[in-house]
Amino acid sequence: MAPEKQTEPKGLLQSHELYKYILETNVYPREPKPLKDLRALTASHPWAVMGTAPDAGQMIGILLKLIGAKKAIEVGVFTGYSLLLTALTIPDDGKIVAIDMDREAYEIGHPVIKKAGVEHKIDFIESQALPALDKLLENSDNEGSFDFAFVDADKINYINYHERIMKLLKVNGIVVYDNTLWFGSVAQPEPLVLDEFKEGRVSTIKFNKSLAADPRIEISMVPLGDGLTICKRLY
Ligand code: SAH
Ligand code: CA
Repeated sequence: MAPEKQTEPKGLLQSHELYKYILETNVYPREPKPLKDLRALTASHPWAVMGTAPDAGQMIGILLKLIGAKKAIEVGVFTGYSLLLTALTIPDDGKIVAIDMDREAYEIGHPVIKKAGVEHKIDFIESQALPALDKLLENSDNEGSFDFAFVDADKINYINYHERIMKLLKVNGIVVYDNTLWFGSVAQPEPLVLDEFKEGRVSTIKFNKSLAADPRIEISMVPLGDGLTICKRLY
């Protein structure tokens, strides 16, 4: 399918027509060409649905601009939609540490990243996220040094990632957690939840509760895509 035709809502918005309207009116006309190319390359991947939706991407882009982010970290890269978006948005001397244990998926999007001329901003770490974050924290220069973080990997570990991210982010830095409504399952009664969502639902519910009770951050839950929680580190 041509990427411009991907108007099936990926997440929570139930009206196809409304989602199509949002994409066609606000998103596609402004989506940079390399991001369109990356979506086209990803479309045939069996897990293409994991790629960040372009409307959620637009939201991340405006956040990066608002805070003037220069140094970012991404946990969960896949073929690189949110990574390329970040690389295109931050300044030429900006840096992104991008962590994923799946280098093969990253390689799919890599030619587009290279062609877009932003590869020099990216430090890709092929690893499980938790040890990679701990390794970053071994270097005290990294502590409190990141303006922005995007977390989009295994939901079970979000709670563990959050503790590390709180140390890596600057005070006033922003972290965005993706899929925090887990296909709407967080609000479904247990017996109605499809088996494949059960595990993620339990961790997401626990995680959302812990964020809501965390005095170190200010939060906003945005029901876009599959739910994004935007957090600002307060101290
Ligand atoms: N942000 C991406 C989508 C990420 S999909 C985009 O915009 O396209 C989730 C990714 O998290 C997958 O690529 C998967 O390999 C990675 N992942 C899952 N568990 C992980 C772990 N424990 N450590 C590192 N990466 C992990
Ligand atoms: Ca996601």
